[in-house]
Amino acid sequence: MLRRVLLGMSRSPQIKKAVSTLPVSSGIVSRFVAGETAPEAVLATEKLVSNGLNVTLDHLGEDVTDRAAATATADAYLELLRQLSDAGLTKNAEVSVKLSAVGQALPGDGEKIALENARTICRVARNAGTTVTLDMEDHTTTDRTLANLRELRKDFPETGAVLQSYLHRTEADCKALAYEGSRVRLCKGAYKEPETVAFQSRLDVDKSYVRCLKVLLAGQGYPMIATHDPRMVAIASSLASRYGREQGSYEFQMLYGIRPEEQKRLTSSGELMRVYIPYGTEWYGYLMRRLAERPQNLSFFVKSLVSKK
Ligand SMILES: Cc1cc2nc3c(=O)[nH]c(=O)nc-3n(C[C@H](O)[C@H](O)[C@H](O)COP(=O)(O)OP(=O)(O)OC[C@H]3O[C@@H](n4cnc5c(N)ncnc54)[C@H](O)[C@@H]3O)c2cc1C
Repeated sequence: MLRRVLLGMSRSPQIKKAVSTLPVSSGIVSRFVAGETAPEAVLATEKLVSNGLNVTLDHLGEDVTDRAAATATADAYLELLRQLSDAGLTKNAEVSVKLSAVGQALPGDGEKIALENARTICRVARNAGTTVTLDMEDHTTTDRTLANLRELRKDFPETGAVLQSYLHRTEADCKALAYEGSRVRLCKGAYKEPETVAFQSRLDVDKSYVRCLKVLLAGQGYPMIATHDPRMVAIASSLASRYGREQGSYEFQMLYGIRPEEQKRLTSSGELMRVYIPYGTEWYGYLMRRLAERPQNLSFFVKSLVSKK
């Protein structure tokens, strides 16, 4: 129930206005967001990489409503890639892109604009020696995002995709994407979705996650196992052994600020671990989705709002 309310709030412009007055340095924001600028994101990357972790960076923002904002987001990625390259970090750092942040939701030729912006980011990423993964948003965008992925993979076959185990369709999508060279990040899914398209109980979402893990780990692609769930991590490790997967032929992924000790533990046990680092001024929707996943953090959040520290 609380999860649904928080996810509803993540789309509310009024609440966004009130909450966005929090400085990014406020405890609850800085716990999940690396900063507002590219140099801050690069600094966070340097710290993690020096400890043996890999990262993927997300310039926060989604559902842009004008073309200038879509271009600005794409430019922000190009600048970030330049800074990562100058710092010698692109071997360990890739970028994650939401198509709605580069124009997908624009009326008219939004899809085309998003694809062109994504193509530019993929080209610059490749020249910098790294890759792009397309984040997955709510279910109304899944088909279009996968269609754009197919387009991008014609020129940039290294482009990664995200699939969400809460959707009924995802096991079939995993089968379609478990081919050689295909990079697939499997997560549970973070949006409020109707029961016509998505499993509603945790148990069903988890069961679907395990079915999808089996397909991806038994397949020929490169699975990216994105979860903080200790049970899913343990099941993924044992399935990887069952299917004869060597460490490094798949990877674990977790979000910045969530279970950092587990991130270190997996790294020390020889697993490839990638941390998803969000940064930028548009942190509101991202923060609300993180709170919805773990309402225990809510009291901390309310205290930050009241004290505005
Ligand atoms: C790298 C990455 C990329 C992602 N990309 C996308 C995307 O493109 N689209 C999308 O819809 N979603 C994305 N997500 C979010 C994802 O869909 C889930 O909403 C989120 O990861 C929470 O699910 P979970 O698997 O961690 O487990 P949950 O079911 O939320 O939690 C299960 C268990 O994990 C542990 N746990 C979870 N959170 C915490 C915490 N904060 N602190 C301590 N323990 C915790 C607890 O033991 C908990 O009981 C991404 C997640 C990751 C890690």
